[in-house]
Amino acid sequence: GEIIAVETAYSSFLKPKEPNSPFSFCTFCLARCAAPIPCHECTKVVFCNEECRSKGWDKFHMKECPVYSNLLEFDEWVMSTYRIIAKQSIDELKVFVSQCQKEEHRSPLEQLLNEDQVCDSDSYRGVYFLEGNIKAVEMETLLGYSYLAFMLTHLLAKSNRYFVTNKGDKYVPDEEDMFFIGSLFIRHILAVTCNGYAIQETHVQPYQVCGIGEHVSLVKVGGGTYIALSMFNHSCSPSAMLLSYGSVLICRASCFIPSGSQVRTCYYYPYFSQPDRANRREALSNFFSFFCKCDACVNDYRVSADFISSRLRTEDKIISRNNWEITASLVKELNSLMEGNSQIALRLTTISDVTNYLNLAMETIEFYDRYV
Ligand SMILES: [Zn+2]
Ligand SMILES: [Zn+2]
Ligand SMILES: [Zn+2]
Repeated sequence: GEIIAVETAYSSFLKPKEPNSPFSFCTFCLARCAAPIPCHECTKVVFCNEECRSKGWDKFHMKECPVYSNLLEFDEWVMSTYRIIAKQSIDELKVFVSQCQKEEHRSPLEQLLNEDQVCDSDSYRGVYFLEGNIKAVEMETLLGYSYLAFMLTHLLAKSNRYFVTNKGDKYVPDEEDMFFIGSLFIRHILAVTCNGYAIQETHVQPYQVCGIGEHVSLVKVGGGTYIALSMFNHSCSPSAMLLSYGSVLICRASCFIPSGSQVRTCYYYPYFSQPDRANRREALSNFFSFFCKCDACVNDYRVSADFISSRLRTEDKIISRNNWEITASLVKELNSLMEGNSQIALRLTTISDVTNYLNLAMETIEFYDRYV
């Protein structure tokens, strides 16, 4: 569980179709609010506190507030591109884009790092260079994105707060301005579609008498764009997992990661929860335009039912829970397997198996306390 990276979303948005989410979560930091405060102008969003309200207003909400009802017609990914653009004025964007265009030929890593060799999660340059896989997108889809981009540009103009001069005077954007912003929207919609991360709330159901342990489920709250975390490659047998704290994403190791090897997150479902390799590969190819050649796919890792720890769990259920000695001996067996065989150990320490293992260990301690 070592923390590898902590990153705040460059842009994020709450899931629009959830009836309670606009009033339970802060529209700026996406954290659940205990005592939310409203927007000064609209009744559509809430904030955690004065600080979030003032930051959220200055960064993007001022420019989306007048058209917020219209934005709710889109999904969270499209909505988050509105915030990507709204965060900078059109004059700032023109400067950024002309700088970035000079760096198109550089490697993705060079494009990611600024002149201080740092990946700045809050700089437009990182979002500009996110991969959009335009070559893999079908013409029909691209036409749909163009339509969305047109709508979003129109909404920016309709807000009457985006196309303003440095002195604060409103102006009607000309065709060139509309085209410039519209083409950036298409670029960002493409990038967000294949780089966006779901922002999820972790729900923990308390230990139940008949259960094996705490039941943990992830509930999607919204979506966000993360510059550094977007550079992590995929594996169906990931070495790291992502946890959301509002719009902050924390990447934690879920197994031992040898020095020099890549930290890989899972873009879809890990192999032990989506056991059919063909389905898994097809979904990855549809969503992210690549044919997965991760260890789990190449070696066709077996399904979760075949896992030793899962088998132990099943046997554990069949065997009476009162017989703690058997549980303890199974834990011992698992321990020795993990010590003795690094291949098995690596595979066992994937996310679900860590949970299985911990549950098993916790249960043993509990039985021990109760009966010995
Ligand atoms: Zn508002
Ligand atoms: Zn907040
Ligand atoms: Zn794979």
